[in-house]
Amino acid sequence: MIAAEPFVCNAFAQNTYIVHDGERGEAFVVDAGMYEETERLAFDRFLKQRRLTLKFLVNTHLHLDHIFGNRFIADRYGVPLYYAKEDEFLLNDFASQAAAFGLQVGAEHLPPVSENAFSGHFSLAFAGTEIKMIPAPGHSPGSVLVYLPSESLLFSGDTLFRGGVGRTDLPGGNTAQLKESLKMTAAAFDESVKILPGHGLPTTLAFEKKYNPFLI
Ligand SMILES: [Zn+2]
Repeated sequence: MIAAEPFVCNAFAQNTYIVHDGERGEAFVVDAGMYEETERLAFDRFLKQRRLTLKFLVNTHLHLDHIFGNRFIADRYGVPLYYAKEDEFLLNDFASQAAAFGLQVGAEHLPPVSENAFSGHFSLAFAGTEIKMIPAPGHSPGSVLVYLPSESLLFSGDTLFRGGVGRTDLPGGNTAQLKESLKMTAAAFDESVKILPGHGLPTTLAFEKKYNPFLI
């Protein structure tokens, strides 16, 4: 059975998720927000205690709070990093974004450029099932939803939160695109789909259609 374990990371309370299949002993990570050493250690400890092998990382987008740990994942685990090419420009911006938020960043935070960037719709195999990356631009140009159809599980990044949506005033944000992506999300998934956002609590599409002012 596939499950997702949240780790709340960094000053932005970003949700890093370890998605794992206990039977096969495999895992992947959705976003890597580890900023502090304690956050990196908690991540290591979980994988070790569960005897999980990390297979890859997927980024929902490349804002700094979702990628503080990309360097750590690449160096410690040597796994492929997948993200949308449309967000790659944000990597060059990393240090200035950090400075704008008054955050110190060191070599351990500097995100590597991946040779596994993708563009448009993309899918990966994991533990005998399929993971779909669905473009949802707006919060950033390369924002994607990460969908596991077999589990009816959706990682919404900063596109959709419980009761809210991502801001569009950060680099590359576009309000009209975000509205289109939310419309697509509302139409594309079953109401019972479980949504795990990049910040805050889990939700469902049914709940958001009822209570989220951006989806009603
Ligand atoms: Zn973001």
